[in-house]
Amino acid sequence: MQIAIIGAGVIGTATAWELLRQGKRVILLEGREGAGLGTSYANAGQLSYDYVAPLADPGVFHDLPKWLLNPSSPLRFRPRPDPRQWCWLAAFLKACNTSTAQASTKALLRLSYLSRDTLHAWLRETPIDFHHRDNGKLIAYRSPHLLEKARRQVAYQAGHGSAQRILDRREAVAVEPALANLGDALAGCVYTPTEEVGDCHLFTRGLFEHVRAHPSASVRTGAHVARLRTREGRVTGAQLDNGDIIEADHFVVANGLQSYDLLKTQGLTVPLYGLKGYSLSLPLPPDPPDGQSGGPPAAPSVSVTDYERRTVYARLGNVLRIAAMVDMGDSSPDIDPARVRHLKAEVRGSFPQLAIEQAEAWAGERPATPDGKPIIDRSRRFENLWLNLGHGALGFTLACGSAVLLNALMTNGRGPIDASPFGIR
Ligand SMILES: Cc1cc2nc3c(=O)[nH]c(=O)nc-3n(C[C@H](O)[C@H](O)[C@H](O)COP(=O)(O)OP(=O)(O)OC[C@H]3O[C@@H](n4cnc5c(N)ncnc54)[C@H](O)[C@@H]3O)c2cc1C
Repeated sequence: MQIAIIGAGVIGTATAWELLRQGKRVILLEGREGAGLGTSYANAGQLSYDYVAPLADPGVFHDLPKWLLNPSSPLRFRPRPDPRQWCWLAAFLKACNTSTAQASTKALLRLSYLSRDTLHAWLRETPIDFHHRDNGKLIAYRSPHLLEKARRQVAYQAGHGSAQRILDRREAVAVEPALANLGDALAGCVYTPTEEVGDCHLFTRGLFEHVRAHPSASVRTGAHVARLRTREGRVTGAQLDNGDIIEADHFVVANGLQSYDLLKTQGLTVPLYGLKGYSLSLPLPPDPPDGQSGGPPAAPSVSVTDYERRTVYARLGNVLRIAAMVDMGDSSPDIDPARVRHLKAEVRGSFPQLAIEQAEAWAGERPATPDGKPIIDRSRRFENLWLNLGHGALGFTLACGSAVLLNALMTNGRGPIDASPFGIR
């Protein structure tokens, strides 16, 4: 069975690898010159297996005026005269209730644990150097009130297999001494010792090389799919910009945010919208020998999320990756200098010893569904068309599990976890 996969971001590449592992023949089509150059390029690097709660949560109604009115809010909403934006927003607001948020969290936890187990199994078979570390994650809270709210989420997730605990300020600084830079502003942390980090681009590129080397695979870069060709309820080919037609028995649409436009060519609509975010990559000098720095370390070593500022810090090799911002309604690929200035100012306020001016800025768009769950399913209209898209803020975390689930659905119609939450909506 020959399967064409469209898009070599982390999702498409992981899908290709799993299909090959399960004995299928694969052709992986990527529009750019290499793998992982889209949203998978410079994300926050979190393999955030226990931290999957969707953005759509009842607290949104309280925060919405701030998103609209405060230009330096970490979440910003710019209304556009665009029906796609308004449809997405209406579905998003509809998902902002406790029962939907909890059901999504439960489904996402199952997928993320599947993903973690899968990644570990793959790496045992096929090592990839992507600065992968498993030294835990701290969510830092400045407000005691929000820390209390987090305590309730921790209690909810504990019932679904999550091993998290609440640390007071002193305990948090003992785990990550760089948090002493925040002084009394730090109320406490949620600590998840099992969380991991890695460089998503290096992972995708490494996995892509394994796909390329596989005898049952062929890969094409610079192969942008302009449209799908269909006949009598089946996809017959993927037509490239240069007119070439790629034929296969099945087709998997895994081209991130651009899936929306590609599916539109066949009149299919998916609830996908881009939530733009920014990252800074800062090369770090070597750590001074223990006890010789005379103060707290300049940069955290454990992964840290500054909750109120929605800013994430991860060490990837000798680089500190800092990511933040959720901008809804800015679909240009441009880096907004005001957003980068604001992010650098936030970092300077928290970790003043960092030479943050030297950091390299990047922007990408999270391919988000309103309820925060990806779509991993077969098309209702074309029997050999499959979707693996809409991973929003969690694509790196969920990629391997999504690949396993899709392969299982293609093979025997059911997955190792309940696939229904990830069906077409
Ligand atoms: C600031 C920021 C921080 C983030 N942090 C994290 C994090 O810490 N952890 C986490 O799990 N996730 C994180 N994410 C989310 C994660 O990066 C995305 O969910 C993930 O990269 C999506 O992967 P993808 O493969 O679906 O899309 P992409 O990486 O965008 O890949 C799609 C690929 O398809 C190709 N393509 C597009 N159209 C076509 C076409 N027509 N024909 C052929 N090829 C095509 C593109 O060139 C691209 O290579 C973050 C995102 C952002 C923006």
